[in-house]
Parts: sequence; C-alpha cells; structure tokens
Amino acid sequence: MHLFPYRHIDKTKITKIADLTPSVDYAQVQGKLWYYETVGDRSSRRLTAFLTDETGVIELTWFKGINWIEKSLKQNQAYNVFGRINFFMGKVQIVHPEMEVVINGPTPAKSYLEPVYSTTEKLKSRGLGGRQIGKLTACLFSLLSEENLLENLPQSLISKLRLLPRYEAFKQIHFPISNQSYEQALRRLKFEEFFITQLRLAKVRFERHRKSKGVVFSKVGELFNSFYRDHLPFELTAAQKRVVKEIRTDTGSGHQMNRLLQGDVGSGKTIVAQLIMLLAVDNGYQSCLMAPTEILAQQHFHNISELLHGLPVGVHLLTGSTPVTERKFILQALAEGNLSIIIGTHALIEEVVQFKNLGLAVIDEQHRFGVAQRASLWKKAVIPPHVLVMTATPIPRTLAMTDFGDLDYSIMDELPPGRQPVITVHRYDTYRPKVMDFIRSEIDRGRQVYIIFPLIEESSKLDYENLMKGYENVKAFFPEPGYWISMVHGRQPAGQKETNMQRFINKDTHIMVSTTVIEVGVNVTNATVMVIENAEKFGLSQLHQLRGRVGRGSEKSYCILMTSTKLGSEARERIKIMTSTNNGFEIAEKDLELRGPGEIEGTKQSGALNFKLADIVKDKAILETAKKFAEVVIEEDPELESAENLQLKNYLLSLHGKTPWSKIS
Ligand code: ADP
Ligand code: MG
Repeated sequence: MHLFPYRHIDKTKITKIADLTPSVDYAQVQGKLWYYETVGDRSSRRLTAFLTDETGVIELTWFKGINWIEKSLKQNQAYNVFGRINFFMGKVQIVHPEMEVVINGPTPAKSYLEPVYSTTEKLKSRGLGGRQIGKLTACLFSLLSEENLLENLPQSLISKLRLLPRYEAFKQIHFPISNQSYEQALRRLKFEEFFITQLRLAKVRFERHRKSKGVVFSKVGELFNSFYRDHLPFELTAAQKRVVKEIRTDTGSGHQMNRLLQGDVGSGKTIVAQLIMLLAVDNGYQSCLMAPTEILAQQHFHNISELLHGLPVGVHLLTGSTPVTERKFILQALAEGNLSIIIGTHALIEEVVQFKNLGLAVIDEQHRFGVAQRASLWKKAVIPPHVLVMTATPIPRTLAMTDFGDLDYSIMDELPPGRQPVITVHRYDTYRPKVMDFIRSEIDRGRQVYIIFPLIEESSKLDYENLMKGYENVKAFFPEPGYWISMVHGRQPAGQKETNMQRFINKDTHIMVSTTVIEVGVNVTNATVMVIENAEKFGLSQLHQLRGRVGRGSEKSYCILMTSTKLGSEARERIKIMTSTNNGFEIAEKDLELRGPGEIEGTKQSGALNFKLADIVKDKAILETAKKFAEVVIEEDPELESAENLQLKNYLLSLHGKTPWSKIS
C-alpha cells in the first residue's frame, strides 16, 4: 500500500498511427503486422517489423533478443503495441515495444494508468521489475475495500478540504483513472501524512500545557526591576519585549516551559535569557546558562557579570578548565543553594553538578547539544526546570513545524536599532591584494578584522595546513610590529585559544585568523570586516553565522567571500544568496530549498524526513493547512472523544509506538 509508484504508463487510449507526432511520449497502437526482417550483421544486426492500421505504418525495431522475438512474430497477426515514440528520419518508430497478440477483435484500452514502481537490479533479475510489482499490487488491491482500508480523517475535514476518501486515494495513487485523479490522491495522502504528525505534535504540546508541573515564577521582583530600570544599557526591541512577555506568561502558568527561541544572528537573545534568569532568582530559584563552547561560555560570563555589576546577585562560571578549588566551591554552593546563576559548558550536565532548586535552564545554540544531554538537565531538579533553547540561526518555518512542533516557540525577527546591514561581496582569489589593501584601510581606521579558513573536520590535516599557509600569507601582508595577529584553531590547548581570543577582544591584535571555532556567538563590536576564505566550502547557515560576527556595532561592516574562479553551480547560488540578503530567516528558507531537509545541520533524524510522499519544501501550503486543522481538532476535542473523531483516534491507536513522538521533550 505504502510502496508508491514513481510514474504511470498511460494505456488508457489507443492512438491512430497517423495521430502520432513528435510531441507524443508513450503511445499504444493497434494494427496488423505487415512484414518483418532482420537487417545488418553482427553488432549492427537488428529486427525490424512494420505494423499498419487504417491510417498509417509504424516501424518496430529490436536490437536485443532478436532470435526469440523473430520466432514469436506472425505476419498478418493483429497486435496491441506499446512503447516510447521516436521519430527517426521522419519515420515513426518504437524501439523494443511491448507486444500483445489481439485475439478476438481489438483489445480494449486499460481503464486506468498503469503504475511503475522502483525496484532493484537484483529484484528485476528475479522477475520483479517495476511493472511486475504493479501487477502484484493490483492483485493485492483487489482484496481491499472501504471496509478494511478505513477512513481516518474526520468527515467534516474531508468535505471542507475536498479531499478524496482514503480508500479512493490509495486506489487512485496506484491505479489512477487520469492524471488529475492521481494529483487528487497525492494531495489527500500528503495531507494525511502532515495532518497525523501535526496532530500528534499538537497533542504533545497540549498535554504538556495541561499536565506538566512546573515551578511558578509568580512575581516580577526587585532584581528584575532594578536591572531593567537602572542597568539595561539599551532599550529592548519590540521583539525582545514580546518574547520576554511570552516567557513570563509561560513560566507563571504552573506548567513546565519548553520553549525554543529563534532569532537571527545578533538579534539579542542573550539579554532575553539574562532577564529570565533574573526572574528565576527573584522567585527563589537557581538558573543555568549552557553554551556549546568554552569561548562562548566565557564570553557570556563576562558580559553578564558586567551587566549585573552592582546588583546583589552572584554569577559563576563552570567549564572543563575551572580550577579544582573553585570548582569545589561552586559545586558546594550550587548544592546548598548559595549560588543563583551559573554559566558553563557541558561541564554543567555532569553527574556531580547538583542544584538545590534549579528553576530554569537556558541552552544557547541548541544544534550543538544532543537530546540526551539536554534531558540530563531535567533530572537535576524534582520538578523539571523551565527550558529555554536558543537557536544559533533561524530554522526554516516548515522545518520548525515538523521538528519542533511539540515545543512552543518564540521568534525574534528584528535587529536592534542602528544596525547597518553588512555589505557582502564576492571576490576571486586573484583579487586578494586589493582585499588586503582594504583590510589595511579599515585597520588604520581603528577597526578589527576576521579572516576565516574552513575547517571541515577537526582532524583534517589538509585544512590545518591550509590555515597555516593562510596565516603566513596574512602575516606577510601585515608584518609585526605594525600589525598584530591572533590565531585560534581547534588544535590549540583551551588556554591558548582563550588567550588569543582575549587579545583580540581587548583590541591588542588587529586581525583574527581562525577556523570556524569562533562561529557561534562571539561578540567583538569593533570588528568590521569578515573575510571568508574558500567560501564555497561553507554552507549557507554557516556563512550567515560567520557574517553575523561583524556589523554588531554602529560602524559600517563588510563581509568578503573569497573563492577560486572554479565554482560549482550550487556554491555560486549560495554566494548569490549571501550577497543579496542579510535576513537569516530568508537564508534559512533558501538553504532548505537548495539542500533539502536531510542536509540541514541537526536534522539527521528529522521528523521532516519521515514523510513518504509529502515534502516540506514543495508542499508547504499543505503543511500549513494540516497544522492549522490539527490544532483546531486538538483544541476542540483533545481526547478525540467525539463520534466524528473516533476513526482518527482508532487510527492513532493502531499506530501506537510506530513513530517517534518527540525529540526534545
Ligand atoms: P544573538 O542573538 O546573536 O545571541 P547577542 O545576544 O549576542 O545576539 O546580541 C548581539 C549584540 O546586540 C550584543 O552586543 C548586545 O549587547 C546587543 N543588543 C542586544 N539587544 C539590544 C538592543 N535592544 N539594543 C541595542 N543593542 C542590543
Ligand atoms: Mg548568541
């Protein structure tokens, strides 16, 4: 049932030979075998036959199986012939046609389009070709009826959306009476796929909202208020205010929050996290912020400590390189509840880290953490803490719907005021001296520059050598002591990485040569130029992330994508997109279109890949509709108890345990 044909052969019509034109693809004709002969010798040997109906002559040709076919052909016999129509030197021809002897009068045309299924060489060699599978399917289908292939969608939905009934849809997708009814079947079954998933996701969300128990942040307290009033260095954007409000409502409801915060690079997610952490403290709970890298954790720690300076709340940092004595102190303080805000890396989820009353866990740049890692945070409190996951880059809408549909999500689609879009250009390697001149002019104006080299694999020797060569090259253009360069890469010990990074942050160095370790989150507002070497080797979201490292202050900023002149068409397309927009949400959509859901980072076990027919890119509109109606159904009848939803409920029960429900919660 669920092995769907990939194409159909139209044998519903019998065409007159005179009506065959070059625009006809496959055709079926009926006529008498006029005569046949083998011509040519050895490698050019072929069998030709001529078939006539009352309108004309068609030539039939075989290059293989000649002896066998020649024996089976009979002059003056009537045949039904099917195949791909060729025009060869003005004559109409079928090579290797399918032949069927017409016995009593003309064979009637088939009443449906004949399905062809994908198969394998091995199956084919055992007689199970694409069309043989069709014959099996037809045979099996005859055993089915509306009684055992039950409808699963509510009747009202079927009529409202003018969907084919389920049995009919399966029939028409395998054996359609026309292309049009095939399309209708496809639409119905795609809708069903999306609808069932969306229903389950909506149900998980609904259940969590209703049943989960969460700590209550009932009040906005002194800490939050005085920070907001006296310490916030800028006015929040409207999007930030909206999201803070959404989270406050959520965390005050008594249910556990499980929220995804999506924001473009530089939209200011950190300050939102910080405000919610203060809210937790105000309500007597501890909170933690977990970052994917040591550098990022350090940076969050410095920024947040600085912003909280003068307020009666302590912030601490726990990473793999925290000294033993300090670590001991932190662990004890966390367990005893003397420490309210902790920032760190994976170190936070280790068994030894125990909280007295963890109320909120913020996870920055979620792609980097596995599900199990996140789940281990839950276990650190009796009542699971509220969870706020912040993405590194926007996720395409449809992917968010299929993959995170069980979460609540907030979107920050606005950048802080005064930001100028980063000017992005594409330059070939031959242009490098000019690029270096430009960099020099920016440095002379007191600005700093990133030069990024690809590091596809942490262990790749080639990438590493490429980086070192690049570094030497940059150094030749910018010699000490006039210019200072920091270099950061994955092979350095953590301490050295941190020192080099810190020198750049402190403006002691002008240029940061680095691999993508600085990709996420790093914030140096004085940096105005981002040069990306071998830009063709990066994916769109990575390029966008990297570009997001500049343009963080009010200065005009630049992103220069360097490539060789040899560029594949997809790389060219990526670069075109980068130079035409700064909008991360738009880029995410394009990325999905270009690569498909399977290739997007973090979606290897994506729910978006579980669809047999539907495609979250091409069938976006159907997905939107399915989501909308799934939510309505769950809202109106969460237990699916009404008579109308009964068949839906039975269907879901029959699927129980067959589909993974949810990745995150
Ligand atoms: P991201 O969402 O990429 O994590 P960050 O939280 O690092 O972004 O914020 C980027 C920069 O923008 C930081 O320097 C931050 O202080 C600043 N910022 C955040 N919100 C605002 C705002 N409302 N107005 C001005 N600057 C802001
Ligand atoms: Mg960030």
